[in-house]
Amino acid sequence: MEYRTFLIKYAEIGTKGKNRHVFEDVLCSQIKRHVEGLGQFAIRRDFGRIFLEAEGNYDYEDLMAELQKVFGIVGICPIVVEERMEYEAIRDKAVAYMKECYGERGITFKVNARRTNKAFPMQSMELNAEIGHDLLEACPEWKVDVRHPEVLLNIEIRNQAYLYSATVKGAGGLPVGTNGKAMLLLSGGIDSPVAGYMISKRGVELEAVYFNAPPYTSERAKQKVVDLARIVSGYAGRLRLHVINFTDIQLAIYEKCPHEELTIIMRRYMMRIAEKLAVENGCQALITGESIGQVASQTMQSLYCTNAVCGIPVFRPCIGMDKQEIVDISEQIKTYETSILPYEDCCTIFVAKHPVTKPILEIIERSEEKLSEGIDELVKRALETDEIIEISPCAQ
Ligand code: ATP
Ligand code: MG
Repeated sequence: MEYRTFLIKYAEIGTKGKNRHVFEDVLCSQIKRHVEGLGQFAIRRDFGRIFLEAEGNYDYEDLMAELQKVFGIVGICPIVVEERMEYEAIRDKAVAYMKECYGERGITFKVNARRTNKAFPMQSMELNAEIGHDLLEACPEWKVDVRHPEVLLNIEIRNQAYLYSATVKGAGGLPVGTNGKAMLLLSGGIDSPVAGYMISKRGVELEAVYFNAPPYTSERAKQKVVDLARIVSGYAGRLRLHVINFTDIQLAIYEKCPHEELTIIMRRYMMRIAEKLAVENGCQALITGESIGQVASQTMQSLYCTNAVCGIPVFRPCIGMDKQEIVDISEQIKTYETSILPYEDCCTIFVAKHPVTKPILEIIERSEEKLSEGIDELVKRALETDEIIEISPCAQ
């Protein structure tokens, strides 16, 4: 069966009153963006429903894969359309559709007709009964079950008849662009791309920052982050990746501060710089891939010290997750393979043998005083190195 029309189902959450229009507008423009490059499509809104219509050739699998990346969609229903508005034509279409989808298998079904076009002579109840009866005649293996049917055959009578039963699961969440913007601290690891994905799923637009430490980190390590940003942008949409040269700050910390405090102090400077970039670029929050207890710099005490430099909210969607749970998501969103490529990152090069696991804020602050001469200038210069890379989704 060739599908040319799709019903896009979205969750009702966040769609009350005036918001509903904003939500639908953003969702439609997101769908448009995602299907661009897959063929000619039209998006139609009708009675509080969103329909996507193929206007030329397209690949069904590619289209489904892409629609499954659009946040805000909970389900996609491929629809068959009958243009002739006569009972017999609709019935024949229903039989053909059910046979193609379910064959002669002994399924239970229920017909759920809805007539929005009152010019059509039969009422919904009557249609349910007649089509149900004719389906039973067409295939004796099928049975009606009005309470718990395996297959719910929906028939919508508009100016054409729409038939559908299957729903392909969508990504859920809220359309990107309905909930502000946040700055993702994106490293080459497993956790931060997952964190970006999760916050973006709540409708938040992303911008990202990567702290680079050449020549201690290589061009390939940076390329890995660009690749990860591109995969995340497949869901989150176009984003800007800021690459900040962090080497001089790291060397200064290495030279002047106790080595067991290196990571924590370094993380505090990353947060400070990320916050500056966030504010300059209209972001309302930061996002990190931190998870309680995962490494020394992510104990409660370490998180407390890191967080102490932040004036805007820091979202840590992986905070309560086990590593395996994060890995599962990274596999599902296809960042895992890239994340595990073995290129060094700046944290691993300047890492101490025995990092503090229970840093005390006052002690860390005192250590940072040793940097007071010159650190502001280094931060300023680091911000000046900001290389902005425009990231758009992978070529389809
Ligand atoms: P990830 O898998 O995301 O790299 P991780 O387990 O390696 O996380 P850390 O290296 O302690 O953890 O980093 C914690 C968080 O700090 C990361 O999730 C990321 O948000 C941020 N971060 C760490 N290093 C960098 C970097 N070089 N550039 C940008 N952000 C970074
Ligand atoms: Mg890391």
